[in-house]
Amino acid sequence: MTYQVTHYINGELITSARKQNLFNPATGETAGQVCMADKTIIDQAVAAAKMAFPNWSSVTPLKRARIMFKFKALLEQHIDELAQLITAEHGKTLSDARGSVQRGIDVVEYVCGIPNHLQGSYAENIATEMDSYSLRQPLGVCVGITPFNFPAMIPLWMFPMAIACGNTFVLKPSEKDPACSIRLAQLAKEAGVPDGVLNVVQGDKEAVDVLLVHPDVQAISFVGSTAIAEQIYKTGTAHGKRVQAFGGAKNHCVVMPDADLEQAVEAIVGAAYGSAGERCMAISVVVAVGDVLADELVRRMQPLVQNLKIGSGVTAEVEVGPLVTAAHWQRVKAYVDLGIAEGAELVVDGRSFKPKGLEKGFYMGGCLFDKVKPSMRIYKEEIFGPVLCIVRVPDFQTGLQLVSDHEYGNGTAIFTRDGNTARTFASKVQVGMVGINVPIPVPVAYFSFGGWKRSLFGDLQMHSTTGVQFYTKLKTVIARWPETAKSGSSFNMPTH
Ligand code: NAD
Repeated sequence: MTYQVTHYINGELITSARKQNLFNPATGETAGQVCMADKTIIDQAVAAAKMAFPNWSSVTPLKRARIMFKFKALLEQHIDELAQLITAEHGKTLSDARGSVQRGIDVVEYVCGIPNHLQGSYAENIATEMDSYSLRQPLGVCVGITPFNFPAMIPLWMFPMAIACGNTFVLKPSEKDPACSIRLAQLAKEAGVPDGVLNVVQGDKEAVDVLLVHPDVQAISFVGSTAIAEQIYKTGTAHGKRVQAFGGAKNHCVVMPDADLEQAVEAIVGAAYGSAGERCMAISVVVAVGDVLADELVRRMQPLVQNLKIGSGVTAEVEVGPLVTAAHWQRVKAYVDLGIAEGAELVVDGRSFKPKGLEKGFYMGGCLFDKVKPSMRIYKEEIFGPVLCIVRVPDFQTGLQLVSDHEYGNGTAIFTRDGNTARTFASKVQVGMVGINVPIPVPVAYFSFGGWKRSLFGDLQMHSTTGVQFYTKLKTVIARWPETAKSGSSFNMPTH
């Protein structure tokens, strides 16, 4: 039986004429359809959000927080159902999907403290009989455009924070796995989010292009690939909007000769191949310091990569699911072909892997390249699949420079037992999120998430304090309540 994913506007499920097929990546079969928004649908959603803003922004932060508490409880109750929706459309394993929903719930939990996070500051007597205070006010209609790889977590980075700050929201999820977004909106309604405060529009470039220039949209949060992030940032800011646009990544993991190799190898294999490498914080490059260490890493990693348990994400013992679409499978395979043509050494070749009985699914076995050179495209470009490249460097400084010189700067990690090496790496490396003996350093909800360089266009990261800053405007008030009225104009710059 097939299903249809609709839009969600003003608390109602709305269909539209243009549709796109949805696949179950585990079987390769068409599973449903998603409605694709045109300008009329976008205008409807933005109008609903605009209409809801005056009332919603007047609701006290404490009442908004209480709704967030209920939303958090509902998400926890429905975590398995949400994970199933994700696995059915994305392909990742159920346990991985569940973990990703939990990371989204963590942000909702942070947002439950919004009355505190919105507090400004107050100073008495900034001048005689004058006081000053600052406050944070919502922006209006905010938009979130999200990628396929975290259909619950990334929307949950955005809309709970935005609406808790008093904004209204239009979410445009990935058209590859949209079902989860509608469930999130329904649960938000059940928690008490009024109609119009959170709207969901399904679609692609056509929908995004309308949102980007819409005069009633105040801010845009985007997460996706770098070329599109850059274009979203440029167009959105040119149209006067506040924009944070998160792009792609090439996350390097430096392994020092003194590292605990057993721990490092296991951590790297999980971080590189988990979720079939379709994570913006996946390790995609290992920087091996010294040839002796590199040989040993390859020797230890080869059997682990060859023996990854790959299959349908709903099967309990499976570690790695399929890629998201047939087109993405082709793209990843083309990169593996390219790596061979460029002269890298393919130690493990997963291109022809097919699990028994699921031959039409979009599966790719783990691929491991050794002796990758920084000049190769498989090193420079994001592959976003189960492909790990080993680059050999002679010493730590060369490794540090290599990581810092890459155009992406999302995440990086170092494995070492030497505190000074780790500290130097964390201090000097030109990357936004750093792990020390931690392979995927995704900040928890009360720290901010965001990369550097071409991994983030804009100034403010996601969630925690920078999330509050992104979704609010700062106002500073100076108030004077003199005991006795003073007359006369002053034509000089006021001083204290
Ligand atoms: P994508 O860029 O193809 O799509 C992201 C969103 O943009 C989707 O909602 C999509 O519908 C929309 N979109 C696609 N093409 C568009 C166009 N031409 N104009 C306007 N909008 C368009 O990304 P994806 O394939 O869904 O996700 C994978 C990418 O996201 C990877 O590059 C990954 O590194 C990145 N990502 C980054 C982070 C981060 O925090 N930096 C997190 C997760 C994913």
